Amino acid sequence: MTPTGTAPHTAAGSLVEDLPPLRDCLAAAGIAADKGLGQHFLLDLNICRKIVRLAGEVTDGLVIEVGPGPGGLTRSLIEAGARVVVIEKDRRFLPLLEAVAVRSPGRLTIIEGDALAVDEAAIAAGIAPGQAIRLVSNLPYNVGTPLLVKWLTGPLRPTAMTLMFQKEVARRIVAAAGDDDYGRLAVLTQALANARIVMDLPARAFTPPPKVDSAVVSITPLADPPAARIVAALQTLTQAAFGQRRKMLRSSLRIHGGADLCLSAGIDPNARAETIPVTGFLALAEAWLAPRV
Ligand code: SAM
Repeated sequence: MTPTGTAPHTAAGSLVEDLPPLRDCLAAAGIAADKGLGQHFLLDLNICRKIVRLAGEVTDGLVIEVGPGPGGLTRSLIEAGARVVVIEKDRRFLPLLEAVAVRSPGRLTIIEGDALAVDEAAIAAGIAPGQAIRLVSNLPYNVGTPLLVKWLTGPLRPTAMTLMFQKEVARRIVAAAGDDDYGRLAVLTQALANARIVMDLPARAFTPPPKVDSAVVSITPLADPPAARIVAALQTLTQAAFGQRRKMLRSSLRIHGGADLCLSAGIDPNARAETIPVTGFLALAEAWLAPRV
């Protein structure tokens, strides 16, 4: 793996195809997975390419990838013609990522840092108006949910997200009212986006294999999302309602207005949180914010 820095590249692809296999790159760099950083690698480029295909048209703007690790997804994104910014906390991967960068001049920017603290909106500020901002990542399991909430509710306003989560988290994102997995994450995500599972991956697809299976979720933020104050109210009310999910709303929402709040939102005060659809929670949030007479 010798960075040349002078390699030519084609419009849609690049010379990343010439890089050694990911497994050899990891071995040559002497890198062993750090489970504390949720490191479970996708070393099969065919799987990486499939995930990139699921992300749709990636050449129409900027792709942000969190946790590129050895760079399998990154290589596939570059192959597909994307312009990519990667954010990686573990500096051991930087030489492997730089080898991809020199083979795709001007198309890969590497940021060393903690994605929870990075201001992605500032990263995306340079792109032309109207261009897409996509997130494509095999997320570290320990920060996947806070990152999703940050991207859904923060200033980035991505066009689309194609994200790998532990299967159990993926189910909690797409669950419908009445499902066992239905809770705060489903309500918040579905109030702000359309979400569906587009690929299941068994634990054995990763190196080293995690204890659980994974799934890729396609999340498309709504063009016209609820206002920030509604989203903030939704977060407060769902925390209270699902914090005591077996209680009736009249009781779990008591400090927020209880039965009166439910009735003004057209919701049965005797219902439990797990049976209330996203539209019902939005109605509760609207009613909670409405001036009382
Ligand atoms: N994308 C690679 C792949 O599919 O083979 C690696 C995925 S691995 C599940 C998660 C990656 O996220 C690791 O490279 C890890 O070092 C990185 N990571 C963990 N926590 C992070 C954080 N807070 N910010 C940025 N990267 C992080």
